[in-house]
Amino acid sequence: MNNFYDEIKNLSIDIEKSVPMKNHTTFKIGGNVRYFVSPANSDEVANIVKAANKYGEKIYVIGNGSNMLICDEGIDGVFIHIGDKMSEIELIDDITIRCSAGALLVKVCNFALENSLEGMETAFGIPGSVGGGLYMNAGAYGGEMKDYVISAEYVDRNGEKGVCNAEDMNLSYRHSTFAEDGRIITAVYIRLKKGDKDEIKNRMNDYMFRRKDKQPIEYPSAGSVFKRPEGYFAGALIEECGLKGKAVGGACVSEKHAGFIINKGGATACDVLELIELCKHTVFEQKGVVLEPEIRCLK
Ligand SMILES: Cc1cc2nc3c(=O)[nH]c(=O)nc-3n(C[C@H](O)[C@H](O)[C@H](O)COP(=O)(O)OP(=O)(O)OC[C@H]3O[C@@H](n4cnc5c(N)ncnc54)[C@H](O)[C@@H]3O)c2cc1C
Repeated sequence: MNNFYDEIKNLSIDIEKSVPMKNHTTFKIGGNVRYFVSPANSDEVANIVKAANKYGEKIYVIGNGSNMLICDEGIDGVFIHIGDKMSEIELIDDITIRCSAGALLVKVCNFALENSLEGMETAFGIPGSVGGGLYMNAGAYGGEMKDYVISAEYVDRNGEKGVCNAEDMNLSYRHSTFAEDGRIITAVYIRLKKGDKDEIKNRMNDYMFRRKDKQPIEYPSAGSVFKRPEGYFAGALIEECGLKGKAVGGACVSEKHAGFIINKGGATACDVLELIELCKHTVFEQKGVVLEPEIRCLK
């Protein structure tokens, strides 16, 4: 074997060449990546990492692509897709759920509901995977993954498998240690509490209603573009600066929620980046507040 593609093929791991990322991101934006690999388990993840290291290929990880902006020119590297092929969800005791990292948060919330488990209702409607959610310490309505994740299985950048506890994940506002060291999350353990099924369902419905009411979910986007600056809301600042509805090419500051940039059709990553810069610049000039992107921009 003398190249990455043949080695992965030989291991019977699902690999595609030259894949358009606009098909794998909720923004519906992004050029082609060189290799798109979809492992079915952590052993395959480990083998992909080892092979990528052997052939000097750069590694990227993607879950559901709901927090990513990938450049129009595409990326020369290996995208490891932790998605539906790694999405089992199981109960390991009365109150603990083990999910493979590609399981969607919405499905895990529904699984918790079926088992009358409460504590993660605020995540209902976040359109990410459990792995992507933990990497981002995703959260909403006062809850975050830090509240209920107890441990995770991972593969490190040498292709070695390991397990770590939540205390060692450095979970804080939209941040985890995985963003620092590049470990790939392969499974997540969540501990909840027994609760009343109807009450859990009502809370989930309420959070979903609030999302549909306030967010432009009818358009492709990557959710809130900016982190919440201390003491402010990014969307309110952008709105106060008169940028609601501002468009660059196909990208537009949402009229419904100024914290979102939406793809109104045919937006490029360049359009979105230009609009991000405009928002940052204008908000700083007019309000003196520095906006920091929450979405991961890959160039
Ligand atoms: C309409 C909409 C609403 C949203 N609402 C919210 C919200 O309320 N709260 C919130 O926090 N977010 C929200 N988001 C953003 C996004 O859904 C979350 O950040 C989500 O957790 C990202 O998960 P993902 O699987 O899509 O990750 P991706 O976008 O695929 O990846 C995000 C980052 O995580 C890394 N990553 C992904 N999977 C793994 C893995 N298995 N191991 C290691 N690294 C990994 C990627 O390399 C990347 O750096 C919203 C997005 C949209 C489009």
